[in-house]
Amino acid sequence: MYSKYGGKLKRWLTRGRIAALVIALVGLGLLVGGTTGTLASRETGTEQANAANLSSKPEPTAETAAGKDDTPAPHSHAPTAKAAPAKPTTTAPPTTRIALAPRPDRDRPARRLVELVKATPPNGKATSNHVTAETGAAWRRFAATSPVADGPMIAIVVDDSGHDVARTKRLAGFRDGVLTLAFLPYVEQLDAQTEIARAGGHEILLHLPMEPLNPEVDTGPNVLNIDLPPSELDARLHWNLARLEGYVGINNHMGSRFTADRPAMAHLMKALHDRGLLFLDSRTTSATVGRETASAADVPFLQRDVFLDNESTEAHVAAQLAETEVVARRQGYAIAIGHPHKWTISALEAWAPGARDRGFVLVPLTAVKKHQQQDVAQGPIHKGKESQ
Ligand SMILES: [Zn+2]
Repeated sequence: MYSKYGGKLKRWLTRGRIAALVIALVGLGLLVGGTTGTLASRETGTEQANAANLSSKPEPTAETAAGKDDTPAPHSHAPTAKAAPAKPTTTAPPTTRIALAPRPDRDRPARRLVELVKATPPNGKATSNHVTAETGAAWRRFAATSPVADGPMIAIVVDDSGHDVARTKRLAGFRDGVLTLAFLPYVEQLDAQTEIARAGGHEILLHLPMEPLNPEVDTGPNVLNIDLPPSELDARLHWNLARLEGYVGINNHMGSRFTADRPAMAHLMKALHDRGLLFLDSRTTSATVGRETASAADVPFLQRDVFLDNESTEAHVAAQLAETEVVARRQGYAIAIGHPHKWTISALEAWAPGARDRGFVLVPLTAVKKHQQQDVAQGPIHKGKESQ
């Protein structure tokens, strides 16, 4: 009896040990899986936090696969994919991620490029922003509604937008006039941010990275360089121009070398003309050929009058805003470029109500172009058609 029970007990203990071992192994497996998952989500969280907290300085990026993003995807995605723009779409393993590097959305430009190629009519002119008889050029179609300009007009353009969602929201909430936000093409949550800005009544530009004079400066991915073969320049242009929708034109991010190069600028202007976009010359160099090349390609052209924040103090921005008023009184309008620095935004918010009281009207950039075209149309020498 005893040995019988003893044998049963032994067998039970053996089974128990096996069961315990199995439980322990499963537990260990869950633990390992759980830890990996936690690390992965922590990595993603850090990157998102970094993307949201980046300073407004142009941020260097580790993205070096320039041009590779232009390969059209073999399949098209469901249109509902656009419904959740805030969700990061990159799925690269954490080991390839480098903190602080805003990764471009690889999926969407490829999809856009497929749509673009499909939609291209025989004359080769088409994009999501392409010109149609019903809707007019993109720069008019996506123009923000301007306040009635019963005084000198001031257009404030905020370059390098998109690194910091909180600052985009703050600018979108600006109520003393209309701003123009120029978004970098490679920032995270681009659709969400442009939608917030447009919903606030503001206008959108694409802030297109172009080759600076200093080759050491990191310009971000898919920058336009003057030495690129035309096909590569086209591919990079497509990548950049397909990154967002609902914008009225572009201005140059950096670009002191590119904007001074006639063939390169002519190439750019053709792409802008085909899409009905305007060109705002940031004038980072006095050697720019922006005006001539835009005119030759019949692209609506504007240029920056004042830089607001070359010095990092609110007092300097206030002085530059006063200078902007002087220019606006003299020529009827002024275009000032600033950046989403805290001191710039604070100075803008402090200045705007008083400027309005002094008779200035804060208009979107397109209002200045429309004003110029009216002047041309009403002038003594009727030059006929200007740019669309
Ligand atoms: Zn810039």
